[in-house]
Amino acid sequence: MLNVDVVKEGGVTVFRLTGDLNELADLPSRFDEFKGTTVFDCGGIARINSVGVRSWMVLMSKVLSKGSTPILKKVTVAMIEQGNIISNFLPENSVESFYLPYFCSHCTNSFELLGEVKAIVGNVSTVLHSICPQCGSVATFDEDETSYFQFLERKKVEVEGHGIEKK
Ligand SMILES: [Zn+2]
Repeated sequence: MLNVDVVKEGGVTVFRLTGDLNELADLPSRFDEFKGTTVFDCGGIARINSVGVRSWMVLMSKVLSKGSTPILKKVTVAMIEQGNIISNFLPENSVESFYLPYFCSHCTNSFELLGEVKAIVGNVSTVLHSICPQCGSVATFDEDETSYFQFLERKKVEVEGHGIEKK
């Protein structure tokens, strides 16, 4: 089950998504009435299956077809992984912030930090280490960095390949 909560953040309407993106999500039909900039808080999306992937991509193309770029905040590790496998799962320039997974080998703590795309583009090397909040040791990035940050690099290719026109 995926819950959609509509919240106001600084005067902007944000759709907060919480739960699993799967065959029960029925996502596109729940966004028939929106217009203008569409902001999604994805921080609560835990698991995604193949039906959920299709549902999500229909929703994204629906937003794009209305001339609006979706803005995706707090994109989870599961979504970044899909976005790096499937072209257009994360539309060009849509991701504003996303989670970075870390592992501390000293105390075996796994944790995630939220990163801003603007700060990370061109500076990936600066986020490959972090301080473990549990023991204070240096924790290392817990994904393959060459594939994890791929979605930041291939934006232009997707635009050319799919002919999406910007306003
Ligand atoms: Zn630690």
